[in-house]
Amino acid sequence: MKHTKKFITLLGITGIATFVTYWFYLPTYPVYPKSDHYDPDTQTFYNAEPQRAPINVASALWEMTFYEKDFHPKKPLPTVKPNWTELLAPAEQSRFMWFGHSTLLMRIGNQTIITDPLFGNSASPVPIMMHRFQPPVAEIEELPPIDVVLLSHSHYDHLEQESIEKLMKTQSHFVVSLGMGVILQKWGIDAARITELDWWQSTERNGVKYTALPARHDSSRGLFDHNKALWSGFLIEHKRGQNEERFYFHGDSAQGKHFDEIASRVGKIDIAFIENGQYDERWPNNHLFPEQTAQLAAKLQPTRFMPIHWGAYPLALHTWNEPVLKSVPMARALGVNTLTPLLGQVFDVNTKTEDWFTQE
Ligand SMILES: [Zn+2]
Ligand SMILES: [Zn+2]
Repeated sequence: MKHTKKFITLLGITGIATFVTYWFYLPTYPVYPKSDHYDPDTQTFYNAEPQRAPINVASALWEMTFYEKDFHPKKPLPTVKPNWTELLAPAEQSRFMWFGHSTLLMRIGNQTIITDPLFGNSASPVPIMMHRFQPPVAEIEELPPIDVVLLSHSHYDHLEQESIEKLMKTQSHFVVSLGMGVILQKWGIDAARITELDWWQSTERNGVKYTALPARHDSSRGLFDHNKALWSGFLIEHKRGQNEERFYFHGDSAQGKHFDEIASRVGKIDIAFIENGQYDERWPNNHLFPEQTAQLAAKLQPTRFMPIHWGAYPLALHTWNEPVLKSVPMARALGVNTLTPLLGQVFDVNTKTEDWFTQE
């Protein structure tokens, strides 16, 4: 009875959200020239290797709504109180801090960058599911001034309106995948503060170069904007004296041939932040499975591989730590040096980390 009531509430909220989306939300997307991943006739982006459509999603949503706690950690995850002075201090190496899921604070050169900022209580547009395991190690208002907000795609677990509205009150610039600009403009961000990138396009800001990389994924915020905006990973490059630092931010992407192209075109990577979590056989071409994450890490041969897209919200039906319990040993077996910092810990490419995620 309790479950039925909750499910009817879910359906009701979905219905209302759909209407609101249709009438008020939908921005007008520009039409782009034809490319190998954009069709101007349908005005949508597409994958070179199509995705198999997800199946049995209703049963998965049911489980994720009513058995959500099964996928949460049994006790709070260990954290470190953020040390902003340590993060921002001049250093030999770029420094980072992880907030869980795909949210990373990066201090590269004199720039502070945040990726896919997600701080809310739920990662779902219907906030009765996908709840945060525990509060973030800091709220957005506590962060040091952000120079660049880097946004991979429009899914709710990567583009959170409340976080963006807080960040837009600062001087941040937004570097985003092609087509996302109109969403941000609809929320009140001036077009001059937004740089959109198609795959393999780059922009440089204050000594840091951002290049959008191909991904095999999709985008949408409602029922009427499927694939209207592009999805990307990013290469972030910075020259430090004679040294060139390179960081790979995965965004979301399923397995595909594009990883061969990325591996052949991108130089030596210092840290590869690779998606690891929220996979399921019911949506096999949306995310990487752990062995694919490990194989991608081996293909890119980074100095360190850090798994992301886990550690904060349950968006699939595996336990909170299954992705890393599987991928980390597999990556090591393939000769990859792993990096698994605590939430809130300041780290760089040389930081030694523990397998803290073995707790239940
Ligand atoms: Zn996504
Ligand atoms: Zn995601």
